[in-house]
This record gives sequence, structure tokens and C-alpha cells, in this order.
Amino acid sequence: MNLHEYQGKEILSSFGVRVQRGIVAQNPAEAVEAAKQLTEQTGTQWYVVKAQIHAGGRGKGGGVKLAKGLKDVEPLANNIIGMMLVTPQTPPTGKKVHQVLIAEDVYYPGESEPSEFYMSVLLNRATGKNMIMYSTEGGMDIEAVAEKTPHLIFTEEIDPAVGLLPFQARQVAFNLGLTGEAQKEMVKFVTSLYKAYVSADASLFEINPVLKTSDNKILAVDAKVVLDDNSLYRHPEYAAYRDLREENPIEVEAKAAGLNYVALEGNVGCMVNGAGLAMATMDLIKQAGGAPANFLDVGGTADAKRVETAFRIILKDPNVKAILVNIFGGIVRCDRVAQGIVDAYKNMGDEIKVPIIVRLQGTNAEIAKELIDNSGLAVHSAILFQEAADKVKEVLS
Ligand code: GDP
Ligand code: MN
Repeated sequence: MNLHEYQGKEILSSFGVRVQRGIVAQNPAEAVEAAKQLTEQTGTQWYVVKAQIHAGGRGKGGGVKLAKGLKDVEPLANNIIGMMLVTPQTPPTGKKVHQVLIAEDVYYPGESEPSEFYMSVLLNRATGKNMIMYSTEGGMDIEAVAEKTPHLIFTEEIDPAVGLLPFQARQVAFNLGLTGEAQKEMVKFVTSLYKAYVSADASLFEINPVLKTSDNKILAVDAKVVLDDNSLYRHPEYAAYRDLREENPIEVEAKAAGLNYVALEGNVGCMVNGAGLAMATMDLIKQAGGAPANFLDVGGTADAKRVETAFRIILKDPNVKAILVNIFGGIVRCDRVAQGIVDAYKNMGDEIKVPIIVRLQGTNAEIAKELIDNSGLAVHSAILFQEAADKVKEVLS
């Protein structure tokens, strides 16, 4: 589950990580109220108005603006709330901004220049360890840093059974060139950040930039946080963080129906049982010259009701030009799946306007094929993987 910046900062704060403080607002009037409250809490006179969407690069897209005084807050919030914000991480049409974070200005002048670092905590699947990745080159696109100046990116690997060792936190501060008060602050920052990552069952905490203020405080200016969906049951306190407005509506509906569905960009809808077979089926579609419109695992119980729900969900995607059903009958018998498909098709009548190719293999595959061939419906049946691929090619051309 992806979080908004303000939600990520709430979690960070709860584990003692210093953050750029802010208050979220749904409309310009609330934004002004938030700014006044923030001044009471922090003394700040300048504010940053930050669009809250599930995508980074907001600054470059015009979604992060500095308000040099209370009077600037209302017009800026008015501009940003409701806009379609386009960033390198949104779809080309952008994402609608529903709320803004009114944050304190932390780039105030002082005894030294503020400086920006990059830091993330994530899982290194290759080593099976957690990893802190960090760089002196904060505030910019980390992919560009990795490409042009890879020697400026450092990593600390952490054995999850042992945890972050104090010398590792000091190593981070050292590699970032910090001394004195800033070094102590960084050690504290890294230690609490790692604690937050582990305790919240996150799969990513990315802080870009981590800021050293002009008076040597270290704080998180931004927060990209991804929580592991499989651990959410352990964190009822985070359930309310889900923002369905940010998610693909078809995926939301599929999830509610208990289907494992991921929307993709292609033109061939897939209905498959088992994740591995689904991946192989997507390869098959590519090979046949198509592109998968989705990943859909109907799971072990492919009865008529489930098949019908899956059809309806696949058909919500206007790009779908054909549907390939690829089911292996192991526990579930192919003839029952075939009956499910026939029933679903009959129920849906002319809602199905695209050709359907059905490949059933396993228990009672022959009976299943007969059932489909004799149904009188416009469904192409196949038993072999290659036959199915050829039929996909045929209907696409
Ligand atoms: P992103 O563009 O989505 O990554 O959003 P960020 O939260 O990282 O903000 C983008 C940029 O806005 C930062 O890199 C800073 O340069 C700038 N910014 C953020 N907070 C402040 C602030 O308090 N004062 C000033 N002057 N600039 C800020
Ligand atoms: Mn950022």
C-alpha cells in the first residue's frame, strides 16, 4: 500500500524521526487555517504548499510551492487543489490533487547553508538483507545520480536478525561528510528511520531530500512510504491510510471480489489460475504479437460466479480486444470451469463483444472442450498452449 507524504511523515514522527512539520488541508480555507496553526506550533512565517498524490517529482511539475507569508497560502492552495498534476511518475494526463500539505519552511538562512541528502531503506532481495541506500546528492532524481555518478551512492546492508549496528549509523554520517552536532543528529535520524521501517512492516521508506538545516538539524522533508500489504492485518492503525482515489478503480473492485488483478497497458485480457501460469500466459500473448491487458489470477475456485465476475472486470478495460482464458484443471475440474464459462457467457449475453479463446488443460480437458464447442457460443477452444497462441494471433489480425 502506497502512502501520501503526510501519512509517511506521521509514521516517521511516531518513531522519533524528525520531519518537516505540516498539516494537511482539503481546501483553500483549511489551508489558511492550517498555516495559522502551524505558526503557533513552530513559529514559521513561510510555508510550503505541497500537493498530496501518490507520485514523486511533484516539485518539478508545479505541485510544491513556497508561500512567503500567510497571504500567499490561499492563492497557492487554490491553484494546486483540483489541478491535474503531471510529473515523470504520473500517467501523461496527470493525477488529480485532492489535498495539500501545508508545511513549515525549513530552508531558512543561518550559520551554514542547508544541504540535501538522499536516503532510503528497502529490502535487498539478492542478499536477503535490509539495506540503507544513501547519497550526498539529495533533492534530485536518484536514478540520474545512479547513472551519472554511481560512486556517490552508498549502501549499508543490515542483517534483519541482528538489526542496525551503531557503527553502521556512524558510517552513514561519516560518508555524508557530517561532523559535530549534525553527525550526532544523523546517527539518531538513521537509527529511528530503520526502526520505523522494521516496525511498520514497510517495504520502502524513501526520504528525498533528507535536509541538514542551517542550524544543523537533520530532518525528513519528503517521505515516500510503501507498506507491505501482507502485514496490514498487524497494523489496524494504518488501515485508514488507504486512499482509494489514488488507486486504479478496476483493481479496487477486483480486490473486493477476492480476485488477484493487476491492470496493464495491452489489448489481450487474461484469466488464469495460478500466478506462475499467469506469467507464462502473458509471455505467450507477447509471443503471439499481442500485449497483456492485465494480470488476473482467479485462484483455485473457478466456478461460474467467479468466472463471470472476472469477465466483467476484464471487460471494464476499454483496450481489451480479446480475452484468453488459460486454466489448468488440477484441483478444479476442467468441465466445471467450462460450464462456468458457458454460464457466465450466457448470463452476460451481448456484454461480451470481443472474441474469447479458452484453453483448458488437465482433469477432464476433453469433456470441457466438447462442452465449449457444443455450446454454440462464439468461443474458440484449445487444449495446447500453442493452439491458444495461434488463435490469439488469428483474432488480433
Ligand atoms: P517531490 O518533488 O515530489 O520529490 O517533493 P519534495 O517534498 O521532495 O519537494 C520538492 C522540493 O521542494 C525539494 O527538493 C525542495 O527543493 C523544495 N522544498 C521542500 N520543502 C521546502 C522548504 O521548506 N523550503 C524551501 N525553500 N523549499 C522546499
Ligand atoms: Mn522528494
